[in-house]
Amino acid sequence: MNSIVVRAGLVALAAVVASILLAVTIVPALGGSVDGNAWMMCIVCPLLTAWPASAYTFWQSDRLKAAHRELSRTHAQLAAAHRRLADKASRDDMTGMLNRETFFAALDRSRRRSDRGALLIIDADHFKAINDSYGHLTGDEALLLIAAAIKDGVRAGDILGRIGGEEFGAFLVGASEQEARNVAERIRGEVERTVFRPEGKVVPLTVSIGGTVCATEATVSEMMRVADRRLYEAKHGGRNLAIVDQCVARAA
Ligand code: GH3
Ligand code: MG
Ligand code: MG
Repeated sequence: MNSIVVRAGLVALAAVVASILLAVTIVPALGGSVDGNAWMMCIVCPLLTAWPASAYTFWQSDRLKAAHRELSRTHAQLAAAHRRLADKASRDDMTGMLNRETFFAALDRSRRRSDRGALLIIDADHFKAINDSYGHLTGDEALLLIAAAIKDGVRAGDILGRIGGEEFGAFLVGASEQEARNVAERIRGEVERTVFRPEGKVVPLTVSIGGTVCATEATVSEMMRVADRRLYEAKHGGRNLAIVDQCVARAA
């Protein structure tokens, strides 16, 4: 408020100076003289008009600036809420991994850029038996342990998704064939070493993994088809097994 009074005072002062200057230049040029009343008018008129007008303008301008700041703050809060919501909508509630739709969208984007990398499909072995023996809630706990082991097994920057009930996808960004095999083996081992003790009994957890290294021209569905085939082979090879193929074109 004080600053409005001071700023409006400065404007009024400038208006008084301008009025006086105009009076002493224009009135004599027109053949008149600046007398006492004229001096009075030069001082009082600008003070009575310029001060309230500029005080009101400064007040409005300050309010506008405050409203603008508030709007920017609200906008930032909304943008943050939108980011949180979008992130929540893209994730599987239970495991925190990407949901199926978002995982495949990420894979699709990576394919369009022809990124190097490998796709792994990881499926829990005999999971139905765990549900049947210990109930669905205990099955959920086992699933969370498996998801945690998978997260531990991949590298920073790899993309993880829950693509089915007890099935997970991992896109190993930039991985070579050997790196993909190493990661798949590490995941398999991490799950195998996980201790799961429902009702005090140790129940082994294992996963089978099928994988393929991306050929640059391979589409997502081609990669899925090959990885699925390798998963099928791993299941039929006795489970608790990782099979990663070198190249989609040669493997199909
Ligand atoms: P396989 O080794 O051949 O993969 O055998 P499996 O029993 O794991 O496979 P199957 O497809 O026969 O059964 C999958 C089971 O996974 C059945 C389903 O109830 C269970 N499942 C899927 N999603 C969830 C979940 O979110 N929580 C729990 N507890 N179970 C789930
Ligand atoms: Mg299974
Ligand atoms: Mg399955």
